Amino acid sequence: MDSASFPTNNRIPRDRLRKHSAGPAGISAAAHLRNSPAAHGVDFEITVFEAGLSIGGQLAQFSSVSEGDGPVFPYNDNALDPLSAEDVAGPALLWGSPLFTRSSEDILGGDAVEFFDLPSQKVGYYSGVRHQIVLQMTRPYDQTPTWDWLGLVWRYGASVWRARGLLSEAADLSERLAANVAPSAAAAIADVPAILASLLGGTALAHEGAPETLRRHGISEAYAAEVLAPQVERGAQVQRVPAMSGLALAMAAGREDAGRARAGGDYAARVRELAKALGADVRLNSKVVGIERETADGGDKETRTATRWLLRHEGGGAEAEAFDKVIMAAPGLEWLVVRAAGVNGSIETDQAVEFDAAHVTFFTASELPGRFGGGDGAVPPQILFVDDDAEGGIHEVAYVREVVPHHRDGVADGAPVVEHLYRCVSGADVSEALASDPGVTWMHHRRFDHAYPLTYPRTSYPSFGVDDGLWTTTPIYSVGSSLDLSWLAGRAVAQQVIEAVKK
Ligand SMILES: Cc1cc2nc3c(=O)[nH]c(=O)nc-3n(C[C@H](O)[C@H](O)[C@H](O)COP(=O)(O)OP(=O)(O)OC[C@H]3O[C@@H](n4cnc5c(N)ncnc54)[C@H](O)[C@@H]3O)c2cc1C
Repeated sequence: MDSASFPTNNRIPRDRLRKHSAGPAGISAAAHLRNSPAAHGVDFEITVFEAGLSIGGQLAQFSSVSEGDGPVFPYNDNALDPLSAEDVAGPALLWGSPLFTRSSEDILGGDAVEFFDLPSQKVGYYSGVRHQIVLQMTRPYDQTPTWDWLGLVWRYGASVWRARGLLSEAADLSERLAANVAPSAAAAIADVPAILASLLGGTALAHEGAPETLRRHGISEAYAAEVLAPQVERGAQVQRVPAMSGLALAMAAGREDAGRARAGGDYAARVRELAKALGADVRLNSKVVGIERETADGGDKETRTATRWLLRHEGGGAEAEAFDKVIMAAPGLEWLVVRAAGVNGSIETDQAVEFDAAHVTFFTASELPGRFGGGDGAVPPQILFVDDDAEGGIHEVAYVREVVPHHRDGVADGAPVVEHLYRCVSGADVSEALASDPGVTWMHHRRFDHAYPLTYPRTSYPSFGVDDGLWTTTPIYSVGSSLDLSWLAGRAVAQQVIEAVKK
């Protein structure tokens, strides 16, 4: 049924909908339930449970403000909390992706977000074993200076320009993805295979392995191992080129390379505005710990009601509440979904996506410590580690910005010492090693449990619908984990909820 069947004076009664969480997938689901043309005439009462203290998902949960104790960041900074989502994600965040601009402008109105160009950036490939930068690349790739280009061709031959083919394929995918995330897109998306079909235009990229994709583009093993792998491999186990789908490889390589058009504004502020505009009851610090069908007498499964789900949560008031429809929108909740769906559910335990953790450690120093390639002339702002086991699984160390300490022992007032803020992304916790480095003056570490999903090629994908009145956005992680994909999953699930309510 389309919206014309539901004029506003004949509204469907309010439906109690509960969802966690307040990450991009959850916010997207709420946004589409409120604003998509298909939802016209349906009035949802939306409650959002968020285990963390802020809206925006894993990127916004990183805060340098300790709970209740004021800032832990000892530097002068204009912002209240000086570590932003943009600092955590690095330069690829939102670059080239109109997700939070187009979509959010549709909801909030106005043209607050500007696009602007950033200069190209050097990326150094550092070997912890050889203690030197072994290769330099330019982001974006097509701005590589001629001399560097010739050096790459000497080293990798035709793979250097053939890699462009992979990046164009990735750019094309991003465009299709952007077109699909716009709320005005007409096609109703049913499940992950349908998303893939609309994304890929019928190609088999999601079903082929990355090695096959590389062969198809004529990219040599040496180029893949020495150039692409440090860019796209992240997790200690799951996100390795040989095990990836071609789609995951192309998207990760494309995101690494995208570096010119950047959406302005602040991610965390934007998602907070969005959540406010949606008029949902957002409960922060409320962790969902169980979900089960509501039973009429509190226990007998035979007398359970058909449509309501009982949610158990910690924090934020009542400990159990019943809802008509539930959307689970966070990585790592498969165990809840599987248990709730029971034997009749459509999700099998072995279909749950596996994740690797990421450790993000910010630190300050007057210059980049030698162990990360510093101390030897000009250092590129981003360093990728080529043999990451050598330094405790470090993938990347990047320069974030200059900072000025509030106070520093031995420094006279009025003579501030400029220091530099760096971000280190690793598969293991490197904070102890960093703390023992005499050059490091401050450090802040967070572990992200569900950062890197297993994105191996599949022939079948789990579905968004788990059981009657119960959905999950997690199947999207079998394609990849990015803001755009989560936004798309939220939209797809919202579409299914609307259809279920209108039936
Ligand atoms: C270091 C790093 C860099 C990244 N860089 C980029 C990038 O540059 N570009 C990009 O597109 N993507 C990037 N990503 C990936 C991006 O952050 C994720 O793809 C995206 O946040 C996933 O959104 P989501 O809504 O699906 O899940 P999440 O962002 O994980 O949101 C889920 C939310 O659910 C909450 N939650 C979890 N369990 C419960 C529970 N039991 N009850 C209630 N609430 C719960 C969590 O607190 C969280 O807020 C990066 C990720 C990391 C870790």
